[in-house]
Amino acid sequence: MEKKIIITVAVTGSRPTKEMNPAVPYTPKEIVDAAVECHKAGAAIVHIHVRNPKTGQPDFKVGLFKEVLEGFRERCDMMVNLTTSGLLLEGTDVISQRLQPVYLKPDLCSLDLGSINFRDRVFINPPEWAEAAAKCMRDNVVKPELEVFDVGHIYQAGDLIQKGLIDDPPHFQLCMGIKWGIEASPENLLFMKSKLPPDSLWSVLGVGKAQLPMITMAILLGGNVRVGFEDNIYFKKGVLASSNAQMVEMAADLAERLGRQVATPAEARRILGIKNVG
Ligand code: ZN
Repeated sequence: MEKKIIITVAVTGSRPTKEMNPAVPYTPKEIVDAAVECHKAGAAIVHIHVRNPKTGQPDFKVGLFKEVLEGFRERCDMMVNLTTSGLLLEGTDVISQRLQPVYLKPDLCSLDLGSINFRDRVFINPPEWAEAAAKCMRDNVVKPELEVFDVGHIYQAGDLIQKGLIDDPPHFQLCMGIKWGIEASPENLLFMKSKLPPDSLWSVLGVGKAQLPMITMAILLGGNVRVGFEDNIYFKKGVLASSNAQMVEMAADLAERLGRQVATPAEARRILGIKNVG
């Protein structure tokens, strides 16, 4: 079992609002402040979405990503993972719009596989998207985080690996409990893990009340974990989390109680084989 555990924190996502939890960050400064706090609590990677600073609506302006990335790098060595989900983008050039964050050369970018019904729309990730994204990330020396929402998506990632488009080691995020994706159950997590290509690194997120059971299983199984407001706004039943850092602290404490040491950003960089030095 890999002893060190990498904690990723997804500080804002695109769905939670300040009405749902007042601690959800919107502006680049709020996002950077939240991430710095999470670094102190034990996170090695921060996964970033951006919001319209005034309204809090999901946004995808490259200037906002740049402001967060640069603001954060001035303050901290934690790795940055920018989203490429671009769920609300429209037009004929959605693929190239989605890839804009890659050119900012963060340490990682998410690479979503498999199209899936998602809230009130279809989250479209066709084969040409996956290949274009993998090539773009490889050319820009950005590590892809292969986000999978169901077991078939792992096979699609396997094709990219076979085509030589993903550098070793492949790094998966097993997204458990997204509505209409694979249900977050212990059996399903074991099944997903059993389908991963050999020598893959993997992390697990669980949505809402599935967060704690899923990260606990990942800790026990030797995987890595993701927490944060993108996945869950509660600290426990009926109690809102006071900050992203509170959830990171909880995950770090749980990991250590269960015999896993929390990886520093430098250690996580080595484990993931990240070449980009920021
Ligand atoms: Zn995300």
